[in-house]
Amino acid sequence: MAVVKERLMDALREHFGFDSFKGNQEKIINSILSGKDTFVIMPTGGGKSLCYQLPALMSPGCALIVSPLIALMKNQVDLVRGYSSKDNVAHFLNSTLSKAQIKKVRADLTAGKTKLLYVAPETLTKQENLDFFKELEISFIAVDEAHCISEWGHDFRPEYRRLKEMIDQISDKLPIIALTATATPKVQSDIVKNLGLNKANIFISSFNRPNLYYEIRPKRKKDQTIKDIVKFIHQHKGKSGIIYTLNRKTTEELADMLVANGVKAVAYHAGLDPSTRAQRQDMFLHEDTEVIVATIAFGMGIDKPDVRFVIHYNIPKSLENYYQETGRAGRDGLEGHCICYYSHKDVQKLEHLMRDKSLSEREMGAQLINETVAYAESAVCRRKVILHYFGEHFETENCGQCDNCRNPKEKIEVKNRVVIMLKA
Ligand code: ADP
Ligand code: MG
Ligand code: ZN
Repeated sequence: MAVVKERLMDALREHFGFDSFKGNQEKIINSILSGKDTFVIMPTGGGKSLCYQLPALMSPGCALIVSPLIALMKNQVDLVRGYSSKDNVAHFLNSTLSKAQIKKVRADLTAGKTKLLYVAPETLTKQENLDFFKELEISFIAVDEAHCISEWGHDFRPEYRRLKEMIDQISDKLPIIALTATATPKVQSDIVKNLGLNKANIFISSFNRPNLYYEIRPKRKKDQTIKDIVKFIHQHKGKSGIIYTLNRKTTEELADMLVANGVKAVAYHAGLDPSTRAQRQDMFLHEDTEVIVATIAFGMGIDKPDVRFVIHYNIPKSLENYYQETGRAGRDGLEGHCICYYSHKDVQKLEHLMRDKSLSEREMGAQLINETVAYAESAVCRRKVILHYFGEHFETENCGQCDNCRNPKEKIEVKNRVVIMLKA
């Protein structure tokens, strides 16, 4: 039963202050409100959160939102609260809360004041929590970043694999909403299988990001590459950007060299203590630094709309990663310049990193790397190759927004390889 359109629009205005839905949002929300399992595949920045937040606010009971990162959770709860006059409309429940805080959250839930509860997968592994949820009226379960279920995804989390059995313990009648920005067919089928979404309504949005410019640059000697990067940054003075590198040491080195060349830059990686990381993330969000040089530990859930460039100093380990990482540029729909430096040495470095892994992991990794290499060496429209990777057919003579379209190569040396990839 579709909810009357006017009621939906009123709720959208009342709760979020928006005048219209984006893309598939309205259809998705109707699917959720009708109690159906729903699978949402939408690129980063497409507006997935609203797809479950609005129905949660409109439904009786409280929705459980499974989210992989604690930092992400707080951010989301703050956003929902920001729209509401009541702080207890949204809460999170994870290991960072004190006993007293947990008690308060539980009291609000029992009193029916809370419409959205963000939980970590670990929260659901605790029997006492499951027993508590069993007694509550739960409207639905949303599994955000659902690709964490799949080893083919870019952020596999083993705990995600156990979600379905835990959800079933709360109730086997709860509608499940899975959301991801990962559209590779392998990841999709893993999600469907794992969460039992065979009967779900599936909504797939286009993954094209027309405002992103994609470019591959050959990586030469270190000094030259850094000079090239500095030049690019100076041409984009005052703009924010992210530079991704393969390892922690390189983030520090590169940040130091950028600073020495008059660029405001800081390094970010998982080896820094949490307060330094939080501080540097804030510096980036508040524009106290132009550039953050980071490992892939940085970025998930960072909602900075005006990132103007994403530079990969090393080739990413998969095209999926590349799409996600470059996806942080231009979220406001304005310019986003994505440059990837490519050298064969870096490919070998990636291969070397897998040396201690199992044979099957190495095979999986090698396949992902080969696809990235094919992308880097291709003379075909970058956008076409990326979208093809997500199973999307992109018809274009000239997208005008990638190096291959703007400066077509005369000779296509690696054509065979690319043709093979495009047919696969
Ligand atoms: P995703 O989770 O898909 O990456 P988000 O849910 O974080 O995307 O939303 C991205 C941005 O889009 C947010 O700033 C959000 O406020 C905005 N947004 C979502 N829906 C709408 C809408 N209907 N109208 C205007 N802005 C929207
Ligand atoms: Mg999201
Ligand atoms: Zn192109």
